[in-house]
Amino acid sequence: MLDSFHRKGKIPVGILGATGSVGQRFIELLANHPWFEIAVVAASERSAGKRYGEAVKWLMASPLPKKIASLEVKSCEAPMDCPLVFSALDASIAGDIETHFANAGHLVVTNARSHRMDADIPLLVPEVNATHLCLLDAQKFSKGKIIANPNCSAIGLSIALKPLHERFGIEKVNVVTMQALSGAGYPGVPSMDILDNVIPFIAGEEQKLETEPLKILGTYSEKGVLSAPISISAHCNRVSVTDGHMECVSIKLKHHVSEADIVDAWKHFTSEPQSLNLPLAPINPIHYFEEEQFPQPKLHRTLDKGMAVAIGRLRKCSLFDYKFTILSHNTIRGAAGGAILCAELLVNKSSEFRTSLL
Ligand code: NAP
Repeated sequence: MLDSFHRKGKIPVGILGATGSVGQRFIELLANHPWFEIAVVAASERSAGKRYGEAVKWLMASPLPKKIASLEVKSCEAPMDCPLVFSALDASIAGDIETHFANAGHLVVTNARSHRMDADIPLLVPEVNATHLCLLDAQKFSKGKIIANPNCSAIGLSIALKPLHERFGIEKVNVVTMQALSGAGYPGVPSMDILDNVIPFIAGEEQKLETEPLKILGTYSEKGVLSAPISISAHCNRVSVTDGHMECVSIKLKHHVSEADIVDAWKHFTSEPQSLNLPLAPINPIHYFEEEQFPQPKLHRTLDKGMAVAIGRLRKCSLFDYKFTILSHNTIRGAAGGAILCAELLVNKSSEFRTSLL
């Protein structure tokens, strides 16, 4: 179905949770998208029935497009007049609503955690595990499909680890995050809690960061995805930065390699979204900085459309082998942009898939 729309013109898409932090980022990124056109915006009953411009507290730097501001916000009820639906729903209610949309025949690309670890759901980072799209064939929704975009910190981490795991094998990872405020949605953490402060706890986050990369870096077989044999230990902290998650990472490798080997693996890492020239694909998924004070959220979060992962400070680790710092934009690469790239990959590859939806 996506294939036929794509051949005719733009594919109409819906955004569930369109009024939130991630929903707004979807609107910004889809406003001039060459393949997708926003047809439906939906949110909670608090917003349904209002014009989008009245319902939303618009927080993006670019102006809200007039055409979108005038759309009526719908309730999250399927079916909708669009084959593809992006979900930016609050995690507490996302799971059932997304299942309902998939059963009604939609392709759902979700940012919520609810379905991420289900055995038949691709937890997709297009540069890392495009082969996991084969899981779609095993899904049991009556007519539609679900693809999950991983946790925002897990995406940056998986992209940084992928070329190293592929070339040298990774055994252990220790990761300490400094996560931006927009990661908590809007209005998020009260200012009196976070100003002049760091909060060393984000509910559920460490567990996601210790498990999701293992599925993402896992191997697809007809029996499903076999998790990568890596141990990950994570500490997650909320810091007073608006956008951009930083992660300080230490790794233990299976084989002895030099710093130059690691930098070479990062600098030459390229994948299907790049070879297919997908609209939102970064030119280089990874940018390595030699300067010892980089990467920094204020300077580098929007690198390559906000879709690239910035890495720096590679050096020897006295506990493991090497340590380094990574940065990725949590609502672009880590949420809306990552989900749109998943949909672009699927549309591009759709003729290869056997599913009835496609
Ligand atoms: P948010 O700002 O709190 O927005 C939540 C959205 O869900 C709003 O549009 C809200 O609509 C809607 N909603 C809430 N309750 C609903 C209900 N009962 N029925 C229908 N719609 C309902 O959250 P966010 O930060 O954008 O996050 C959205 C999702 O993406 C979450 O699952 C989150 O875990 C995930 N995520 C977020 C980030 C990030 O960096 N922020 C990154 C990766 C993944 P109203 O405005 O009408 O209330």
